[in-house]
Amino acid sequence: MTRPYNFSAGPAAIPPEVLEQAAAEMLDWHGSGMGVMEMSHRGKEFISIYEAAEADLRELLGVPAHFKILFMQGGGLAENAIVPLNLSRAGAVDFVVTGSWSQKSQKEARKYASEVNVIASGEDSGFTALPDPAGWTVSRGASYVHICSNETINGVEFHQLPDLKALGSDAPLVIDFSSHVASRTVDWSRVGLAFGGAQKNLGPAGLTLVVVREDLLGQALPICPSAFDYRIVADNHSMYNTPPTWGIYVAGLTFQWLKRQREGAHSGVAAIEQRNIAKARLLYDAIDQSQFYVNKVAANCRSRMNVPFFLRDESRNDAFLAGAKERGLLQLKGHKSVGGMRASIYNAMPLAGVQALVDYLREFEQKNA
Ligand code: PMP
Repeated sequence: MTRPYNFSAGPAAIPPEVLEQAAAEMLDWHGSGMGVMEMSHRGKEFISIYEAAEADLRELLGVPAHFKILFMQGGGLAENAIVPLNLSRAGAVDFVVTGSWSQKSQKEARKYASEVNVIASGEDSGFTALPDPAGWTVSRGASYVHICSNETINGVEFHQLPDLKALGSDAPLVIDFSSHVASRTVDWSRVGLAFGGAQKNLGPAGLTLVVVREDLLGQALPICPSAFDYRIVADNHSMYNTPPTWGIYVAGLTFQWLKRQREGAHSGVAAIEQRNIAKARLLYDAIDQSQFYVNKVAANCRSRMNVPFFLRDESRNDAFLAGAKERGLLQLKGHKSVGGMRASIYNAMPLAGVQALVDYLREFEQKNA
C-alpha cells in the first residue's frame, strides 16, 4: 500500500513496517492469545517487551550504565513540572530560552523552584538564532540548566550540546529532546537528564522518555507526586504505576526498526542521522535557491527535524496547502504562532518524501511565480 507523505510535527508518521507489525500482532501477540493492550504489565509477556525496548534504546542511544531509562506519562509538558519537582532543591534553576517550548518550560518551573533565571535568550532574533554558550553565565550553585535542544515550532536546533563544565559550572544540563530524540547521537558526558514525548520519533503519544543520571535521583521535593518521583519510578522499573504499555510496545518496534537501518558503513542512529542530514540539506537547499520561499533561521542552527518556511506571497498559502494535499503531502501548515508552513521530517520520513516535497515546491513556484 502506498501512503501519503505525512509532515506532521507530532503526533507524527510512524514507519509503515512498525504499523504493519503492530497490526499483525494486534489480536494475538506471539501466540499468547492476547493483544499487548490486554496484557498485565507484570506478566512475563509484557516484561519481555519492556526489557527488550529498554535494552534496544540503551544500545541505540549509547546510554551509559550510570543513567536510568524511565518510561513515564504526561508528555514533555508534564516534565516541565516533574523536572523542577525532582531537581530544584539545590539552588537556582537556569533556563536558556530559544523558542516556544523552552519559554513554556521556564514559566512552569516558577511554580516549584524558589529561583528561576533566564540566563540567555534567542528572543532578540525572533528565535531564529541560538545564543552562543560562550556568553552564558550559569548561576552559582544552580541545581540545573535547562535547554530545549530542538525547538519544534521555531525550527532551531543545538547541533552541539553546551559544555557547562567549560563554563565553570558543575550544574547538570537538562535537555528537552522531544522533537529530535533518536535522530542523532547524544553526547551523554554533557547531559544530566534528557526528556521527551514519544509522539514524534519513537511511537504513539502517551509515552514519555526520561534518561537521568543516577546521582540525580532521590532529591525530589516533598510535594512531588510519588508517581513522578524519579527515584521511585527508577526503583520500580517504570512500574510504580501502570506504565503506558502500548506506547512502550510500539516504541520497542520502532527501536528494532531503527536498529535495522543502514547507511553506508553506519547503522542504527548513526545511519538515520546521515539520512536526516541528507534530507534536511535537500529541503533547505531548495528553499534557499528559490526566490519564492524563505526560511528565516540562521544557517548554523537550522533544525534537521522541523523546517518552518514561508511563501513570500502569503496570499497563496491556502492554494499551496490544497495542492500539496492533492499530491499526498500532508500536514504542512505552520504552527499558528509562527504562521507559514512547516515540514517536519522525522526519522520515519524517507528521502523520497522530502524529494516529493521539493518537487512540489518547484512545481508550485513555476506555476505561480
Ligand atoms: N517540548 C517539545 C520540544 C515539543 O515539541 C513538545 C510537543 N510538541 C512538547 C515539549 C510538549 O510535549 P507534550 O505535548 O507531549 O506534553
